[in-house]
Amino acid sequence: MALPLILLEGVRRDYPSGEGSVVALDDIDLSIEAGEMVAIVGTSGSGKSTLLNILGCLDRPTGGSYCVAGRDTGSLSADELAALRREHFGFIFQRYHLLAEMTAIGNVEMPAIYTGLPPSRRQIRAQALLDRLGMADRLDHRPTQLSGGQQQRVSIARALMNGAGVIFADEPTGALDSASGTEVLRILDELHASGQTIVIVTHDMAVARRAERIIELRDGAVISDRPNRQAQQAEPTGADIGFGERAQAPASPWRVRIDQFREAFRMALRSMNAHRLRTILTMLGIVIGVASVIGVVALGAGTQQKVLADINSLGTNTLEVFPGKDFGDVRSGKITTLVLADAQALAGQPYIAAASPTVSTSKTLRLGSIEATAQVNGVGEDYFAVKGTQLAAGAFFDADSVRRIAQDVVIDDNTRKALFAGASASPIGRIILVGQVPCRIVGLTRPQQGGFGSSANPSVYLPYTTVQARFLGTTSLRSITVRVVDDAPTDRAEQAVTALLAARHNAKDFFILNTDDIRRTITSTTEVLTLLVAAIAGISLVVGGVGVTNIMLVSVSERIAEIGVRMAVGARRSDILQQFLIEAVLVCLIGGMIGIGLALGLGAIFNIVSTAFSLRYSTTSIIIAFLSSMLIGIVFGYMPARNASRLDPATALARE
Ligand code: ADP
Ligand code: MG
Repeated sequence: MALPLILLEGVRRDYPSGEGSVVALDDIDLSIEAGEMVAIVGTSGSGKSTLLNILGCLDRPTGGSYCVAGRDTGSLSADELAALRREHFGFIFQRYHLLAEMTAIGNVEMPAIYTGLPPSRRQIRAQALLDRLGMADRLDHRPTQLSGGQQQRVSIARALMNGAGVIFADEPTGALDSASGTEVLRILDELHASGQTIVIVTHDMAVARRAERIIELRDGAVISDRPNRQAQQAEPTGADIGFGERAQAPASPWRVRIDQFREAFRMALRSMNAHRLRTILTMLGIVIGVASVIGVVALGAGTQQKVLADINSLGTNTLEVFPGKDFGDVRSGKITTLVLADAQALAGQPYIAAASPTVSTSKTLRLGSIEATAQVNGVGEDYFAVKGTQLAAGAFFDADSVRRIAQDVVIDDNTRKALFAGASASPIGRIILVGQVPCRIVGLTRPQQGGFGSSANPSVYLPYTTVQARFLGTTSLRSITVRVVDDAPTDRAEQAVTALLAARHNAKDFFILNTDDIRRTITSTTEVLTLLVAAIAGISLVVGGVGVTNIMLVSVSERIAEIGVRMAVGARRSDILQQFLIEAVLVCLIGGMIGIGLALGLGAIFNIVSTAFSLRYSTTSIIIAFLSSMLIGIVFGYMPARNASRLDPATALARE
């Protein structure tokens, strides 16, 4: 004799309860042959549903063994049990358990998503099943638009979708009026006639009498198991209604994956749409986080560019030679070895376009009763060309003025503000006192626009000869500004200058700053600063991520019954995990894109309003923001999704 389809030996099911445990099933021995129609009856609480859940592999016994077609279910993994349910079992529940956001046909198709039946064949089969159950005109109705009897027919079609050989029905007529109930039972009779194995749980003897065998439970034990002779043998109609046909298609694995992915994507959109406000609030955290990170990075890049542009206006290939060991050498003021002859020697080199000596001091400027303290720079006629300084009015002094020790002064805009505030006439040609020395204003430089090296302190420029002779009484220089010829490499020129001066001084008592060094220092400083602030902004992104975890936990707990249904029809743990992960990632990605849009939008407005500098958005930072919002979805959505996938199907289904 062939093995029975279902074989239970000594099955127990205890539920932990407080200190001890409740025995729901106690030592059940039972076998059911393929093709039988069995009713399990008993009063409420007798253990019927518990037994049916174990038979349907929604739950595991705590003792004894359960074999399906000779395979011991105790040795099967969660996914193997899911496969068993997916391919061989169909479930009909008292409360139908249809998914509310899906249409009738969508609900019927659902189990076939997990077997990988292609969408077109899925739809044809779902439609045919609904058609045969008299639901042809209700395909696109949602569960709430259907009567109880109609919903139960949809759930029967769902149970048959994958061509299950065994149908488990838990009080299938319990929530129906008698006419609908009779109709459902008629359908079950027909299924039985076409060869299906049917197990019905009921407390109603009128229902049980339709089965050919009645098993009665009391307090978790079988108290009678008898054939039912009055069973109206469903007359073999001969007309094969085809309910039992296998619907599995040998689909390629990647097809199945893509299909499930698309389905999960659609589910995610549906659920986000169903809770719009909640979704938007959750996204807000991500939006703000992404926008602030991108904004800060753009701000950093913008400032850096502005500062570098300011430095470049100093001339890209200038070197500045100072006395002393290094920047900030306290004794550099006492070193007097850097002299005019050095500047002249440098100017004679082929790789040097111009060398301007500079000296400086600080003096009080006077115009009538107005006084201001200014930095007095003694420079050569080439200085302005070397530095790239622009004039607003007048002219720079020339080589002749330098030779004549002329008392000609070029003032900057801060000086103009200090001495000529409110005066509309041009200061050119006016005489001011620099210290005690009367000087004629010959030029006015353009105002500097903030940024590196700018200050509000007045600064004036005189021929270095004048400053040495009238104010300092020395011939030593504060610095020599050197412009390297255009096609010579700056670093090679720097080496040559160092060698030349070291030879002239017999010591290296000077140091050289070149604009590349300054540029490098500033670039690395702003980069570090930007990184730091971006990291702080990144914290808000993490907070947004925690919001995602929170909302996904809520979403999972609201949809436990749905998860139970999906598991009952055979979804694997990975399917459930994927569904919720996709939802989390989608929330984050959409939030991320809105955040990027927001940052770009605000940046555009900022760039219109502000003239000082502009925000610079880099494609890299946008791509990184996009990828990190996806990563946040995965990281912060994982825990809730995993919780969902680890739910126990029977427990999940018990949730309403
Ligand atoms: P029936 O379906 O026959 O009404 P059940 O199988 O639902 O009965 O329940 C059988 C017994 O097991 C009852 O005493 C019930 O209280 C207990 N029971 C069922 N499910 C659980 C559960 N999840 N946790 C604890 N006890 C349970
Ligand atoms: Mg029950």
